Amino acid sequence: MRALNGISLEALLPWTARIWSQLQGARAAGRLAHGLLLSGPVGVGKRHFAECLAQSLLCRTPGPGGIACGRCADCELLALGNHPDLLRVGPDPESKSGEIPIAMIRLFTERESLTPSRAEWKVALIDPADRLNPAAANALLKTLEEPAGQTLLCLIGERTGSLPATIRSRCLQIRVPAPADAEALSWLNAQSPRSDWELRLRLAHGAPLRALRDFDDAWLAQRQERLTGFLAMAAGGRDPLAEAAAWNAPGAKLMLEWLASWMCDLVRLMATAEDVRLENPDRQADLAALARRIEPAVGHRFLQRVLEGRALAETNLNHQLLLESLAIDWSRIARGGEHRRP
Ligand SMILES: [Zn+2]
Repeated sequence: MRALNGISLEALLPWTARIWSQLQGARAAGRLAHGLLLSGPVGVGKRHFAECLAQSLLCRTPGPGGIACGRCADCELLALGNHPDLLRVGPDPESKSGEIPIAMIRLFTERESLTPSRAEWKVALIDPADRLNPAAANALLKTLEEPAGQTLLCLIGERTGSLPATIRSRCLQIRVPAPADAEALSWLNAQSPRSDWELRLRLAHGAPLRALRDFDDAWLAQRQERLTGFLAMAAGGRDPLAEAAAWNAPGAKLMLEWLASWMCDLVRLMATAEDVRLENPDRQADLAALARRIEPAVGHRFLQRVLEGRALAETNLNHQLLLESLAIDWSRIARGGEHRRP
């Protein structure tokens, strides 16, 4: 059985069933697009969907709804990872840029590689498509303009808005949605029963695969500790430099994500006393008490600083200095006199 991140590829993710049947309908009618652009947030199942679709197109005897049989010779070749009609195109792992260079695109557009050799279809998975460099995108555009016979070019990515408009307009654009919470929770519980799926799903911004794979117990414990430290600083119970040193354990990138998420919740709570949907519902009472003490304009300004810091952390900046200055600022803001007016 083929699997991606431990999830079987012989089963569709239920929230993608509608787009699946649309594509299978188009296939049955001989109208399947030659270019697909699958976008959506991290962890909603774009890659799972693309792999299922590729297998469906290459399988000799797909079952009802077009699901691959998992048993034929083509499915077996796919399971072994060497089906000649499935091409995987991604960044050169040796390259520092992380870009997909033109050579990778030429590799499959210049040889006769767009003609299926044993299956009905030839499928190229281009992933992550937002890493195509301009020359590669241009080369790919030519292929999208003059598609070979039974070829499907499937572009997958999180930031596909950065692709040239010419590429996007020549693809059928499909946004893979995050499911409703109830559907996501029932799917997660079917994967493995746990009592804290609701929190994990919220931390994953509603993306079920992210909730399933991204947060182990150590991650969750570290988040709890750092959030406790963040609240303690606001109460004057923790030295900002000591806390900033502890921020190195999760690393600057993750720490800035967390700070942004906590500040967003605080700003939400400052804006309304109504029931509000938080990213960190497990500490709602603590965050709400803190939100009452901080002037909203001051909270907004600090959130802005955190977001700027998050952008800066992508560059080769001194992360320790950045974290220390944020911790000192936070400690001053949250304790020091800038109270919310009555
Ligand atoms: Zn099969």
